[in-house]
Parts: sequence; structure tokens; C-alpha cells
Amino acid sequence: MSENPKKLNLKQRYKLLTRGLDWETTYQPMDKVFPFDTFEGIKIHDWDGWEDPFRLTMDAYWKYQAEKERKLYAVIDSFAQNNGHMGITDARYVNAIKILLTGVTSLEYAAHRGFSHVGRHLRGVGPRVACQMQAIDELRHAQTQIHTLSHYNRYFDGFHDWRHMYDRVWYLSVPKSFFDDAMTAGPFEFVTAISFSFEYVLTNLLFVPFMSGAAYNGDMATVTFGFSAQSDEARHMTLGLEVIKFMLEQDEANVPIVQRWIDKWFWRGYRLLSLVAMMMDYMLPKRVMSWAEAWEMYYEDAGAALFEDLERYGLRPPKYADIATKEKNRLSHEVWSIFYNYTHAAAFHTWSPEDNELDWLSEKYPDTFDKMYRPRFDYWREQAAAGNRFYNQALPQLCTTCQIPMGFTEPDDPTKICFRESVFKHERYHFCSDGCKDIFDWEPEKYVQSWLPVHEIFKGNCGGTDLKDVLKWYHLNDGVDNMDYEGSPDQRLWAEWTANRSKAAE
Ligand code: FE
Ligand code: ZN
Repeated sequence: MSENPKKLNLKQRYKLLTRGLDWETTYQPMDKVFPFDTFEGIKIHDWDGWEDPFRLTMDAYWKYQAEKERKLYAVIDSFAQNNGHMGITDARYVNAIKILLTGVTSLEYAAHRGFSHVGRHLRGVGPRVACQMQAIDELRHAQTQIHTLSHYNRYFDGFHDWRHMYDRVWYLSVPKSFFDDAMTAGPFEFVTAISFSFEYVLTNLLFVPFMSGAAYNGDMATVTFGFSAQSDEARHMTLGLEVIKFMLEQDEANVPIVQRWIDKWFWRGYRLLSLVAMMMDYMLPKRVMSWAEAWEMYYEDAGAALFEDLERYGLRPPKYADIATKEKNRLSHEVWSIFYNYTHAAAFHTWSPEDNELDWLSEKYPDTFDKMYRPRFDYWREQAAAGNRFYNQALPQLCTTCQIPMGFTEPDDPTKICFRESVFKHERYHFCSDGCKDIFDWEPEKYVQSWLPVHEIFKGNCGGTDLKDVLKWYHLNDGVDNMDYEGSPDQRLWAEWTANRSKAAE
């Protein structure tokens, strides 16, 4: 290339960036260089059929990203200098971002690893470049979240050892196992799982509540990294849709394989989002919308349109999407109840919803809340007030697939816990739903290897047999990071600040 590359147009430069890289290997056969992109059964006849809608060249990529970084760090600096944390609605809010840092930031890093791996192992150069750029984006997301949220670590508890906790704390095995499952699949399944099912179909259910939730609650730090990630996200969603269409167009035999992955990853992603449902309905002092409303808007409406569009390729909507819709009026209440019972073992606080919050829930869930959940929360609040705050000391049974304690209910009977089981090689495995059981039954050899936190505690692999030993092994500060918000160091500090502020205002 002796010509000045600046004289080439964008399309030519992109072609040089990508197509020039896909030479046929000669020292080794191609199948040995790319051992992973055939065993899943996906047939690709023409890798050049891949259309990258962005055609982003490396120089343009680095220029855009550098500009975004400059803006982001300017805002973070001023947030820190101006004590931005004082502007949040209420310190209960901080517990939502404890979940974000411990549960989501590590997934960004896992995504970085996953896309680096897949970028290496797809023999088509178009998707390879797209995956590599996404890998760099994801590393940036992890870094910006760590830098931004480190400010909260100076004042609030539960942020100090998020990386360690991700590998050990029971409820964080829910997000961790989700991503580990994707990363240990083949490259096409990984991209279907993460780029399509999670980033294309379900992403708004994660992004909107956290970002709008942050904006509503005065957390400008989180809003800033959210906006900085958003333009990357648009690219990631396009990759998700592109890869699905590419596989479906290449060979008809790919359709049932892709359909099964969509069924599986819809359900895994949906179960993971039950943490977000709880956050939206219970943890944001100033609510954005209810989980049920978000589900209707971002799944029932948007998802229906998407799958109508994909029908011409022979795809149907994910299996069990109707169950998720049936569960929309109970999901957040069931999950919050689990955490309220196990706050003594969690690195964030829970509380009894205040009266106006119970009223909001009654209004948003007219068919279920007053009948089933309000009496429960009233009772728990009375008990706590009488000095009988109950922390469940028994370890719960976990679902082998999603790893969430078995607190979900029968699709057609919200008063009855849903149990499913399978026997594999004389061992019995337990599931929270038909969706999770199906996933296991398809690949039992994979899921019998699940690292289930409760089982591992019983096996003696988590620091000891006592809760105190286990918390120490989690690096969780007992009496500080865990238990009720009321009376916690976070709450006392916040009360002190609020008192000082009103004194200063007098
Ligand atoms: Fe990301
Ligand atoms: Zn499950």
C-alpha cells in the first residue's frame, strides 16, 4: 500500500482494514487454526456475506472513544470535587449501585474476555473485527464503572472488594454463572447469547432502569458512564441482530440451532434480570416505572415487533416468554422477599418499604399486591418493630441452572412455590422453572458442573460451616455491609449529613 491511505474513501479503508486480513493459512489447515466455529453445527458458506453496518475503521474508533473518555473523566472529576454523592435522593439508593458494581461491572469485564476469545475464533473477518472492537468497548465499560463508583467507596459500605465478591458471594453467582455459561459455549452461541438475546432483546430492561434510576435519584456519576456507554451499546445491538440474520441466511439447517439458543438465552437473561426487577420496584427511592410496565414496554411491545420481523427467517418468539409475562406482577416482590430474608448474608442492605412506597406498589400492581404481598410486608414490618426482625438461618435450595434460591412460584398459581427436578446419572437436580429445567436437560453434562454456593458451603469449601466464617471468606464486613439499612453505618452517616445540611440552611 504505497498510496497515501488518507486518499481512500471510507469503504475502501474499511475493506483494507478487514478483507485484507482473511488470508487462507498454508502452514496449518484452516480448521486447525479455527477449531471452534464448526462444532456447534452452524454452517457458513460465504463469510463475505457478513455486512458490517458500521464500517468503523480503527483510527475513527480510537478518535471517538478518546473524545468520550475526555468528557467522562471531566465529569467524574467535578462529581468528586463537588461531593456529588450528597445530591442523591436517599442513601438507600446506594444499595442499587452496590449491586451494579458487584454484579454488572464484572460482567462487563467478562464480556471483554468473551468477545476477545470469539474475535479470535470466528474465521470470517467481518465478525472478527466487530467482536474485537466490542471487546475493547467492554473493557472500557468495566474501567469507567470502576473509576466512577470508586467515589462511593469513600463514604459507603459494601464497595470495597467487589471483584473478590463476584467469585464468591452466593447471589453474585447468578450473574457470574450466566456469563460463564456463555463464555464456555461455542463462538456462535456466545454471540447469540450476549449480542442478540441480552444486548438486543433484553438490554433496555437493564439500561433504562439503571440509567433513568440514576438520573431520577441524583446519581450523576452513574448517568455519566451510562451515556458514555450508550453509543457503544448501539453498535453492540447492531452486531447482535447482524449475527442472527447472517446465520439464518447462510443455511436453513442453522434455524433450529439458533432457535434453541434464543429459547435458552432469553430465559437465562430474563432470570438474571429479576435482580433488576427488584431494584426498580424496591430500591430506587424515586421510582422510574414498575418492572411490569418496563416488561410491557420493552419486551411485550418491542419484542413482539422484533420477532414478527424475524418470522420470515423461520424463527418464533422465545419459548416461555409467555411465562415471563405471567410473572410480571409478582417477580420483584418474590425476589425482594428472598433478599429481605437473607440480608445478613448480603453485601447490601434491605428495609421495609415505607407507606408511600407500599401505596405506589398497590397502584402499580392492582391485581396482586394488596392481595398477596402487602399483608406480608405489613407483617414483617410489625415483627421488626416488635424486635423480631427475622433473618432466615437455613440455607435455601438453589436452582441448578439460574442459581437463584427457589422462591419463584407456579405460572398459574402465585401462592405455590414452583419446583422442577431431573435425574441424571442417579443424581437429582432441582430447578425453579420449566425454562431452567429445559436448559439443564439439553446439556446435563455441562450443568452438573455448576458451582452452587449453598452446596459449596455444605461441602466446606467456603471458609467454614458457620455464617461468620462464610462472611469472612466473602470479605464481607459483618454488621457493616449486611443487615437492615435502618441502624447501619450508611444510614447513620446519611442521617448526620442530612441533619448538618438542614442546620446549615437555617
Ligand atoms: Fe458493556
Ligand atoms: Zn432457575
